Amino acid sequence: MTLERGVRGELQRILGAANVLLDPAQLLTYSYDATPGAPRCPPEAVLLPEDTAQVAAVVGLAARTRTPLVARGAGTGMTGGARAIRGGWVLSTQRLNRILRIDLDNLQAVVQPGVVLKHFQEAVEDQGLFYPVDPQSLEACTLGGNLAENAGGPRAVKYGVTRQYVLALEAVLADGEIARFGARTLKSVAGYDMLSLLVGSEGTLGVITEATLRLLPAPAARGTLLACFETLEGAAAAVGATLRAGIVPAAIEFLDHASLGAVEAVEPLGLPPGVAAVLVLEVDGSAPEVERQAGAVRAVMAAAGASRVELAASEAEAERLWRARRALGPSLARIAPHKLNEDIVVPIVRLPEAVAGVHRIATEARVACACFGHLGDGNIHVNILVHPEDAGEMARAGQAVRATFELAVALGGSISGEHGIGTAKQPFLGLELGPRAMAAMRAVKAALDPLDILNPGKIFPVQDQAEVPPR
Ligand SMILES: Cc1cc2nc3c(=O)[nH]c(=O)nc-3n(C[C@H](O)[C@H](O)[C@H](O)COP(=O)(O)OP(=O)(O)OC[C@H]3O[C@@H](n4cnc5c(N)ncnc54)[C@H](O)[C@@H]3O)c2cc1C
Repeated sequence: MTLERGVRGELQRILGAANVLLDPAQLLTYSYDATPGAPRCPPEAVLLPEDTAQVAAVVGLAARTRTPLVARGAGTGMTGGARAIRGGWVLSTQRLNRILRIDLDNLQAVVQPGVVLKHFQEAVEDQGLFYPVDPQSLEACTLGGNLAENAGGPRAVKYGVTRQYVLALEAVLADGEIARFGARTLKSVAGYDMLSLLVGSEGTLGVITEATLRLLPAPAARGTLLACFETLEGAAAAVGATLRAGIVPAAIEFLDHASLGAVEAVEPLGLPPGVAAVLVLEVDGSAPEVERQAGAVRAVMAAAGASRVELAASEAEAERLWRARRALGPSLARIAPHKLNEDIVVPIVRLPEAVAGVHRIATEARVACACFGHLGDGNIHVNILVHPEDAGEMARAGQAVRATFELAVALGGSISGEHGIGTAKQPFLGLELGPRAMAAMRAVKAALDPLDILNPGKIFPVQDQAEVPPR
């Protein structure tokens, strides 16, 4: 659908003609995100505001013309959230990319949503501070996308996820009005906790235009360890053993056998034969504290049955381990061209059952499967590796995905630890949420966005929506 001339003129007046993209080739580049297999959805226009007033004017116009509006950061989302599945406009935050303030006295920063996470981390580190949230897409993803997905990462085991660092938000609501929630203080209980509602709302309740984020003093030292296990369940059980021993590493990541095979071709780790899974652990703190924790982790890993435990001897060696971890997602393309990438999360004590159960499901469905992820917080990335042209395999993969979600819920976990629901997991939300909980969430959406302007068609299962979810 093309843009009606009067509306186009109005958008150009608000943003300047150069910031209203209409060329089909440009629209195509904003039509997809990082969700494997999700159909492309070119919007009618891509809008590039540079301040909150422009965002408010655009959202107000969307409301008056009943036009769907999808906020978009870097498009690294894994559940199809940034795609304009109902047409309308994509509002890109790429020009809202300023770090407005780093407040050394109050340990906080004020940022616009289009700031790339890595740039933010570097700016903060230059001041001797630390923003620990570290989704592995950090070189591209934006703070706005992190807020909208409540992103986590390896360090969530010790430092938590995005929500834990949000003190205040400015957002443009669905009627085009600007609202501010939270306070620039470490605590505030004035009214409902709207921060928790907006964070993780996937762009369906408001367009976040500014955030005040909490910072920490930077740890003086870090240590990275690699522990090799001959069974996957052994590696999973070692996570609980570590926490029970009173050690909370900054990160406990794992790679199973199939993941190791894929990554070995790209970033070889030089593992001994017979390794079924590895844990990559990071400890941080003062130098003596790092030394103490690293020693304690070594002992716990050995007692848990690790066949080898190594402490990275240098920063370069540690970075090599993390590079291998980050290369994992793309390197799985060596096994199969396409993957159904799920991010279930279970309580720590159920991890051994979860990893064994996922592999049993894949074997029974006769599909290849590689698991890795943030084992320290119970988050397992289950990748079912498929060939889209093989209809039989795709059908079996779909069954394996459903069985994986059922397993996560049966173990007391959740169908998504960090990627959100978007369109990819819509059909499965009811496995986890009861009808009353779902109705309460729909009521929130209806109250804040009665015209269904903001990212419509996402999160909730919809029978009659234009697009059939990608699986
Ligand atoms: C290789 C790779 C590794 C990843 N690793 C992790 C990981 O370790 N942990 C993790 O949590 N995720 C991970 N992800 C997923 C993804 O990077 C995160 O969800 C990230 O937060 C998305 O940021 P983005 O800027 O790309 O957002 P986008 O993909 O552009 O958007 C995501 C959602 O946020 C909404 N949105 C964006 N900006 C705003 C705004 N200003 N206001 C309101 N809504 C907005 C969009 O509408 C959409 O629904 C990974 C992805 C890839 C490709």
